Amino acid sequence: MLNSSEPLTAPFESSPFYAELAEALGRRQCEIDQLCPPDDHVARRVLHDYGAMFLGNKNILPPPVCVFTSEAEVSEFQKAAGHAAANIGGDVIELQPAAMTALLKARAVARAEGRDISPRDGAEAARRSYADTVRLWNSRFLPALDHWQELGRLNQAQTEALRRLPIAEQVREVLELEKDGIFFSKDFSKSVLYSIAAPGTSQHIAMLAFDANEFLDERVRQILSDHGWFQTVLSDLPHFTYLGLQEEELAARGLKCVEANGQRFWIPDVG
Ligand SMILES: [Zn+2]
Repeated sequence: MLNSSEPLTAPFESSPFYAELAEALGRRQCEIDQLCPPDDHVARRVLHDYGAMFLGNKNILPPPVCVFTSEAEVSEFQKAAGHAAANIGGDVIELQPAAMTALLKARAVARAEGRDISPRDGAEAARRSYADTVRLWNSRFLPALDHWQELGRLNQAQTEALRRLPIAEQVREVLELEKDGIFFSKDFSKSVLYSIAAPGTSQHIAMLAFDANEFLDERVRQILSDHGWFQTVLSDLPHFTYLGLQEEELAARGLKCVEANGQRFWIPDVG
């Protein structure tokens, strides 16, 4: 019997993803509310969009929070996780050691078949700092403010107020404006979160993501998934996440398979 005085939990709390996440966090003596405060809608959205990385194998260290808020916090985490560097076609990329080992093995298989797995946009394809994610945020946020002011959807007082907000509040306000069709992606047609990650939230900060030039090659995607690298962020086509698992295991880990743009994504099954 439900006790009527108990607060109702959001339906997603009973989803396969949350069940698996609670178990994975329990092994590290951590709880979902520490990772991601329940009343923080931005953090929850981030968890639902990028959360697959929290369910990877035991050889990787997922971030202790959904949203990092400073460079110091990111540096401390990246140091604890450890990172390996490799030169791929002249670009030095960095990843967590287990992720790097698997990527280099996958690349060797690809090259033996006359293909390649190479970083898209150089070093930024793998590890990013907090400052990198802020710079990427500004590359979408600032032009969109100008665009919507020119179109008269925002006035100057509004855009100035938005520029002055602390970054976490900018994200919150942008997601509110997007509900009214004032979008902040590069072409102003969709949510900014389909274009870039919110500051402090990227799987690249976790050093568990790699953007590959060859994402349109189905065989390359197969080689990557054979080595534990999967597409886990819906509609981010070149972006692969290291989970270190077999594809057959993913459904039991609380991820669901979704086809988009002819590609197969494994995303958090939040109901
Ligand atoms: Zn990426």
